[in-house]
Amino acid sequence: MPGGVSSPVRAFQAVGGQPVFVKQAQGATVSDLDGNSYIDYILSYGPLILGHAPDAVVAAISKAARKGTSFGMPVTLEAELAELIVSALPSVQRVRFVNSGTEATMSAIRLARAATSRSKIIKCTGCYHGHTDALLVQAGSGATTLGVPSSPGVPESITAHTLLVPFNDLDAVAQVLESNRNQVAAMIVEPIAGNMGTVPPAPGYLAGLRSLCDRFGALLIFDEVMSGFRVAWGGAQNLYGIKPDLTCLGKVIGGGLPCAAYGGRDDLMKLVAPEGPMYQAGTLSGNPLALAAGLATLEALQDGAAYAQLEQASAALAQGIQAAAAEAGVPVQVQRVGSMLTPFFAAAPVTNYAQALHSDTQAFKLFFNVLLDRGVMIPPSQFETWFLSTRHDQAALDATLAAVREALQRIKNPNQTSR
Ligand code: PMP
Repeated sequence: MPGGVSSPVRAFQAVGGQPVFVKQAQGATVSDLDGNSYIDYILSYGPLILGHAPDAVVAAISKAARKGTSFGMPVTLEAELAELIVSALPSVQRVRFVNSGTEATMSAIRLARAATSRSKIIKCTGCYHGHTDALLVQAGSGATTLGVPSSPGVPESITAHTLLVPFNDLDAVAQVLESNRNQVAAMIVEPIAGNMGTVPPAPGYLAGLRSLCDRFGALLIFDEVMSGFRVAWGGAQNLYGIKPDLTCLGKVIGGGLPCAAYGGRDDLMKLVAPEGPMYQAGTLSGNPLALAAGLATLEALQDGAAYAQLEQASAALAQGIQAAAAEAGVPVQVQRVGSMLTPFFAAAPVTNYAQALHSDTQAFKLFFNVLLDRGVMIPPSQFETWFLSTRHDQAALDATLAAVREALQRIKNPNQTSR
């Protein structure tokens, strides 16, 4: 196994040391094979909004499994989850289920190209949309951490159609659309960037993208694989009140099992096979176990109480980290939307990828390792988002902040060893 892992960021290359091998997890806590426990802010990189192994989700998966694990034929669970998604997202009239966020974005791009008969797409530097060839250009997440701005093996003939702009820069989008008139099929964006660390959209940014895309006849694709049902019921598009043409979902809608989706306006989704000519398929798509896990998760979120609780806990954590940094005299910017947050080791707020890359990754490395040592598991890279679950209670937050204070003191006085 390359790096000993199934996905690169898990190998801890950016922070040194050995990756933690998981034995089991429950609620906000993950336990390793060596007998250590950690308060977990990785949460499988976002899906586990109810924490690890919530009773309702485990029960739903078991119930579904007893009825068969995959059929290659339709099940009503598909319709149930589709109806919930359509009711939650006003921009989405129809959905197609796939297995991963990568498949969702790859398919949405294909659909946008099919719908517009145009080839070019616009993406933001530092946004990560999975590892499909066309989108693996100046991508965030593991691609940033490992210093691979784009990957060998991706033909230039493919990325030649991918136009790059900085996040939060409307002028750049306007210029690119202007100089590629009638050629841009779509702009794809994480409405809340999460794969360069958490970077919220500047006020007016998403509305500006909406009107620019309309003016130039390009589709607007929100990649809400991370933000969808995470920051609010219905995701970032509901939080900010902007309707994209197409939406990509993943993570939370699968409740920790492999499920993702793309969806959007009726006239666009009608182009997808078998109703239309745009081909896209999947042996395990709409898998009943994944649908059952997703449904149980969304049902637990539907009344909104979980989001209120997550907001309160996440705000308290963010404020606690910011206060601890001020006390220690370490420049930190805690950036947060709902239960997505990143403390950047930076002197000024981070609004785009170039600024994110100026963060002090050496300070982050020490921070990470002190937290790990004190039983707090955060993503092993400065350029990732921390997630909270409804199981992160006051005791978990207090323990986290105690570890954070210690880590920040160590950054201030690196020669001082343990307590
Ligand atoms: N889009 C976004 C915004 C993501 O955060 C991710 C995964 N981190 C993906 C797409 C790709 O999803 P997957 O890893 O399920 O292929």
